[in-house]
Amino acid sequence: MRGYRPSWLTAGVAAVLTLCMAAAMGVAPHSAYYDPAAPRRQDAIRLPDLREQLEKLADAGATYFHEETVQRGDTVATLLRRLGVEDPDAQQFISRDPAARTLFDLQPEQLVQAEVDQDKLLVSLRAPIDGNINASRELLIGRAGGLQKPAFQAKLQSVRNELRYEMRSGAITAGGFFRTMDIANVPEDIVRQLISIFSGVVDFQHDIVQGDRFRIVYEAGFRDGALVRNGRVVAVELVNRAQLYQALWYDGAEGSNTGDYYTFDGRAMARPLLRSPVEFSRLSSGFGWRNHPLHHQWIQHKGVDFAAPTGTRVFATAQGTVDFVGQQTGYGNIVILKHPDGYSTYYAHLSGFAGIQPGQRIRQGQLIAYVGQTGWATGPHLHYELRFNDVPQNPLSVMLMEPVMLTGRARQGFLTHASDMLSRIDVLRGIEVASSLS
Ligand SMILES: [Zn+2]
Repeated sequence: MRGYRPSWLTAGVAAVLTLCMAAAMGVAPHSAYYDPAAPRRQDAIRLPDLREQLEKLADAGATYFHEETVQRGDTVATLLRRLGVEDPDAQQFISRDPAARTLFDLQPEQLVQAEVDQDKLLVSLRAPIDGNINASRELLIGRAGGLQKPAFQAKLQSVRNELRYEMRSGAITAGGFFRTMDIANVPEDIVRQLISIFSGVVDFQHDIVQGDRFRIVYEAGFRDGALVRNGRVVAVELVNRAQLYQALWYDGAEGSNTGDYYTFDGRAMARPLLRSPVEFSRLSSGFGWRNHPLHHQWIQHKGVDFAAPTGTRVFATAQGTVDFVGQQTGYGNIVILKHPDGYSTYYAHLSGFAGIQPGQRIRQGQLIAYVGQTGWATGPHLHYELRFNDVPQNPLSVMLMEPVMLTGRARQGFLTHASDMLSRIDVLRGIEVASSLS
């Protein structure tokens, strides 16, 4: 059990200690960008004996703070005991109050702080619950009534996080890509993002070789110096077999309400057209002339068929708007999306729609419907068509629609943002964070 004195006092002492440490190391603690080239001094500083002062300051009305992490198998009773709380009223309140019961949901390793008085009665309790990158949610329990008539209040409140840019860089070792990410302390969700960003150009299972290099900058939300959640990769460089790949997140482009990854010179990373509108499917019929399975005559197949179980999710292959959602002869349930520059896509034989309306804007990869076998279909499959000026195209063989290039004002805004992020990446050029790798 770690115990300490009243918060204002602790904070004051902590501030003094932090200042001393900062001075001694010549760097700000927790700085995400610390410059290893900056001169560092290691001076011995004699700290005043604060313990004695603490003893003197503690008076009869003092409260004590204890901090514990939740352990596997903990009950509220065992947790409170470790926190130095011996207070049946508090324990009863926690087991009854809906907000306070959140304490039961805590996972192992989560932090809980308790403030107790000299008689080990609970004064307050605080526990971070969860949160997103921008804010943390925490549980606060406080004593409201006096000692004679103890009453407690519990509330869940949202607290803004401190946003930081985290950086990782290094070289791929003989152990391979995933092992290197591990050693370089790149979190799993950031690795997943990295793979997704370059999915159109790099196969991380097979293409990455020893000596390839990476630099990653990503956002992370912190609360009281502790990581709450990692956010988005905001900039990344990858040198794969001497080929340089770069990507930068930018959400300031006009007409884009979600943001996208761009190359450092302003070309969209995302492919304008996904290759497949369904996951885990088998191409069961290609594009072109074929003997129709139902009509037994040679007709042109205007799309491609993906065999997949009924209910399999169907995704928009490109951003656009819903042109039609409903039934058509032969097609059965069908969704037609309209895309920029005269393109449209058809998704047919569906078992159902994902709550979309005509005219609705759809983003690439958005769930629009479910595979079925409505209309002229012998089994569950998705019939998928890509049309240019209403003329069916083979979606698998034609490389269609160039990546979006930012122009005009959007490009100016992007380049300003890019130069700012690039200067951050430049910091990494001089640092071997994962120097033990090479
Ligand atoms: Zn078909």
